[in-house]
Amino acid sequence: MKNKSKLISISVEKVGVCGSDKQKILQNSLSVKYLGHEIIGIDNSLKKYVAVNPNIHCGTCFYCRRKEFNLCSNVKAIGNNIEGGLKGTLQIPIDNLLYLESNNVKYTLLDPLAVIIHGLSLINIKEEDSVLIIGNGTLAKILIWILNKKNITPSLVNRRGCIENPKGTLKTNETYKYTKVISKKFKYTFEIVGYEQVDSIETAISNTQKNGYIVCFGVFPKGYYAPIELRSLFENEIKIQGVRSFNPKDFKIAKKILDDTHDEILDVINIKHTKFVSYEQLLIESKIKNVDKLIVDLK
Ligand SMILES: [Zn+2]
Ligand SMILES: [Zn+2]
Repeated sequence: MKNKSKLISISVEKVGVCGSDKQKILQNSLSVKYLGHEIIGIDNSLKKYVAVNPNIHCGTCFYCRRKEFNLCSNVKAIGNNIEGGLKGTLQIPIDNLLYLESNNVKYTLLDPLAVIIHGLSLINIKEEDSVLIIGNGTLAKILIWILNKKNITPSLVNRRGCIENPKGTLKTNETYKYTKVISKKFKYTFEIVGYEQVDSIETAISNTQKNGYIVCFGVFPKGYYAPIELRSLFENEIKIQGVRSFNPKDFKIAKKILDDTHDEILDVINIKHTKFVSYEQLLIESKIKNVDKLIVDLK
């Protein structure tokens, strides 16, 4: 069906463990034997470093023809419905590879960074806009980092009422604890909690300005229903924007940002390296305090 692009054999070197992986392990709902979609490795024939865009689109469906590749009806996602990076060796269409100058661990963050780039490409956020972020995970930190580069200082609400920021790289405005009533309203509210939504959508609706936007990066569990106050949606003309993965061009932009900013992202995202023993062990290690991203080294 796809996308006649040539298959390249790669040896995986590093795999980032994503929130969605943890959720699959927790729920014992692995759809493949080997997880892992945040991958860097080596092209076995050219001996060059590569990053893998894990979303293999078909190239022929309605959405692909409109270049909305992230919405492809026949998408094959590495580590989700085809075997992932922990397998060690993979055959990847050449169009899904980006060649790298080094195997710097920061490139395992291309995937979450590309998600942020894509989400921001769907809205028209400006420097003067007020922003609230709901969440405190890796994606939330990357979002703050990117917003700061646009001279936007977001406010923040999450369970802890803060964000771990040892190097002081991330600039935030007010930070709120989840249970607190926030008196201010924001033009953009980013819901980026991940799988653990409690009342994040309700919080978003009550804290978004009239004619404002709620941008949902959070991956809602299957069958998750939130009771939302629809009346205030229509009275206030609030829009809700979903964000689903990213396009090849977002992946390229993400690489350019990581190249242009040297190793700045490594001051924002706290990385811990490990080896793959079992999925349970990955779950335990990813819960260690102050670890934003667990990286499995395969070599
Ligand atoms: Zn991911
Ligand atoms: Zn398609």
